[in-house]
Amino acid sequence: MHEISIVTSLLSLVEEELAKRQLQKLLVVRVRHGALANIVPDAMSFAFEALTLGGPFEGARLELEEEPVVLRCSCGASFNPEQKRELLFAPCPACGATWGHTVETGRELYLQHIEAE
Ligand SMILES: [Zn+2]
Repeated sequence: MHEISIVTSLLSLVEEELAKRQLQKLLVVRVRHGALANIVPDAMSFAFEALTLGGPFEGARLELEEEPVVLRCSCGASFNPEQKRELLFAPCPACGATWGHTVETGRELYLQHIEAE
């Protein structure tokens, strides 16, 4: 379960942020992840709960926001594929090509927002 290591690095990032802003109590962490980042939301929530239990961040809430995938076709058009399966081979709405697309967004994983006091 690679979510454990993702949440571990997420929490050390959060710790740094809180120290910088001299805040103690973490309330909410919002993470934005691309649809191609291979995140299983349930596994993330589970890892977050397990890793914060008994620590200074216990009781904080993890919010996950999925970022839709945007592909760019070799013809220059960028589009949002509808289906989730085989989405890299989704036909381009402009020229119909089903291959040669590059991923513009959809692979990222980042800390978007922290609420603390
Ligand atoms: Zn195209």
